[in-house]
Amino acid sequence: MKAMTCKELGGACDEKFEAYTFEEIAKKSKYHGMQMFAQGEPAHVEAMENMKKLMAEPGAVDKWMDERRTAFEAMPEN
Ligand SMILES: [Zn+2]
Repeated sequence: MKAMTCKELGGACDEKFEAYTFEEIAKKSKYHGMQMFAQGEPAHVEAMENMKKLMAEPGAVDKWMDERRTAFEAMPEN
């Protein structure tokens, strides 16, 4: 099991997610981000806007995801 925070995954708070795989943790953080966005939480709305800008650039999201995946995989299991 590895843990990453919302912030480390491109979000805006210190909420911690735990998962065995990167796909799982990405899903959890996405779900959390969407909930916060739906509540209109300003920091998460801003994080979502930044993500949208990233999506407008070809290949930028893939590169960004790869970096997060590498960080996740480099972490020790606990
Ligand atoms: Zn958050």
